[in-house]
Amino acid sequence: MKVTDHIKKANGKTLFSFEVIPPQKGKNIQDLYNNIDPLMEFKPPFIDVTTSREEYVYVDKGDGLLEKRITRMRPGTVGICASIMHKYKVDAIPHLLCGGFTKEETEYVLVDCHYLGIDNVVALRGDARKDESYFIPTKDGNAYASELVQQISNLNKGQYLHDDIKVEHNYDFCVGVAGYPEKHMEAPSLTTDLKRLKAKVDAGADYVVTQMFFDNQKYFDFVAKAREIGITIPIIPGIKPLAVKRHLQILPQVFKIDLPETLIEAVEGCKDNKAVRQVGIEFAIQQSKELRDAGVPFLHYYSMGKSDNVQAIASALF
Ligand code: FAD
Repeated sequence: MKVTDHIKKANGKTLFSFEVIPPQKGKNIQDLYNNIDPLMEFKPPFIDVTTSREEYVYVDKGDGLLEKRITRMRPGTVGICASIMHKYKVDAIPHLLCGGFTKEETEYVLVDCHYLGIDNVVALRGDARKDESYFIPTKDGNAYASELVQQISNLNKGQYLHDDIKVEHNYDFCVGVAGYPEKHMEAPSLTTDLKRLKAKVDAGADYVVTQMFFDNQKYFDFVAKAREIGITIPIIPGIKPLAVKRHLQILPQVFKIDLPETLIEAVEGCKDNKAVRQVGIEFAIQQSKELRDAGVPFLHYYSMGKSDNVQAIASALF
């Protein structure tokens, strides 16, 4: 079922959803199930599965020489979605990236999604590869998420890349895109970034999921500004419970977001990471309650591995 239909069906009630990361190459999917299992009692209508970019690794060839090779450390997003749907009878949503994929490869992924009964996808550009200082579009790939959304919209209308091939079509993907309450790190201003978001909506996006934020006012202002420029689709807040002391440096550095002073002080006062995890849980509960009271359609959690903290938060709310 489409995310937008889940929202309509909920009739104003705030629902719970979360995101998982595929296990690293060679690991077992059971680890992922162990983290999903405790969250199922909160009845998520959907679970997102991220996609990781390809990266360079150095492989020891055994003769003392290292060879630089390209690899994907966490493959299998669409397969994992199929397993989640089969095991838990919920919608699973693959994240699709521009980076690392030609448009043709993307079309094949969409065809696979359709075969598997996946109704939703999240269309993203992806970050720059670790060995590149800025995002370089893949040859024959999409350069911006708006182009990827357009490709999916075209497929929904029956326009394949190779239109000369006459095939039946009944694609009808619901498309999610990313939004940034504190602007995307590369955008010159929030206003410009919002115009880019509008371009994704105009290309056919059906809903937005936000980057994590820790100050709800930033989300409320972002939604108000989006509405002012004619973005009417649902904007789902993404919430990350702060979990370790190092997050005080990592989160602002990697995601270019601000942390409230009250949270920083509470974390700095913790004697170990167990205490930090508890501070993160309590903060996220308060943040989630305020968002729920404001009537957000979903509270979407970035679980990133161990899900005990998201479980504690959901227990307080759902
Ligand atoms: P875009 O919307 O394409 O925007 C990227 C930048 O380009 C922005 O600064 C924008 O303002 C600018 N821009 C857009 N259009 C134009 C234009 N026409 N001309 C000039 N500038 C333009 N990353 C992963 O690798 N895997 C994931 O699974 C993943 N999931 C995510 C889920 C969510 C909810 C969010 C918020 C992020 C996720 N990311 C993921 C991270 C995301 O890939 C990065 O933030 C990436 O840098 C931007 O992706 P985007 O889709 O927002 O890009």
